[in-house]
Amino acid sequence: MSSPVAASASSSVHTVAHKFGGTSVANAQRYAHVASLLLARPEAGQITVVSAMKGVTDGLIELARLAAAGDAQWRHAWSALRQRHHEAATDLLGEQAGELLAWFDGRFDALADLLQALSVIGGLPDEVLERVQGLGEVFSAQLLGRHLRALGHDCAVLDARQVLVVSHGELGVEVDWERSAANLAAWRQDNPQARVVVTGFVARDGQGRITTLGRNGSDYSGAIFAALFQAAELHIWTDVDGVLSADPRVVPEAVTLAGLS
Ligand code: ASP
Ligand code: MG
Repeated sequence: MSSPVAASASSSVHTVAHKFGGTSVANAQRYAHVASLLLARPEAGQITVVSAMKGVTDGLIELARLAAAGDAQWRHAWSALRQRHHEAATDLLGEQAGELLAWFDGRFDALADLLQALSVIGGLPDEVLERVQGLGEVFSAQLLGRHLRALGHDCAVLDARQVLVVSHGELGVEVDWERSAANLAAWRQDNPQARVVVTGFVARDGQGRITTLGRNGSDYSGAIFAALFQAAELHIWTDVDGVLSADPRVVPEAVTLAGLS
């Protein structure tokens, strides 16, 4: 792997990158908890990569498959997914939710148009699946970013599809560090905030088409953006009570350790 070209306008600032998966952002309460964890941190620069809400990626793939198979059930599934995002926005933002609700409506309307087209075509091109399955991260980053802002903390939301360029090779997904770093540097000029929330999972290919890093790819996104933002550390958070003294499947009496050196 070649190393990323210096990109960040904030390279001299002590920056820490964080990644939160779908379970950690499963609903409004979980987003609020993530925000409280982030706001309690001391770092001057903070990059937070998020997954889609738990189950949303599966839900989006299912939607695309239903529509492509001509199954009219996709409308119910679409409506449920929209409802879930509306609820999260309303719970998190209360009276300030209006703008995000309208934004969600725009995205979901465009998604419905695309699904309708799939049902007419009767097939699911890879390119369309890639576009649809990554939407959960785009929604998720808005939820967290706007929540942080509503709490009074300036924060930029970066849609990775704007900057991250990758190719799919034999060894998996490869990052075009030079182009990605140049794109990020350009984006940073208009978005210099110390706090940035970034979509996991999604990217573009060399031809500018929307793509993803593969299922469960948000950890990889966390590592990529930690490098691009020249973070000193990457924290991959996971939603557990702590570290157990043994594998509980083997040792049922395993206990949560109070501390580790
Ligand atoms: N949301 C994507 C998935 O479910 C990426 C991720 O969560 O890491 O695969
Ligand atoms: Mg995951």
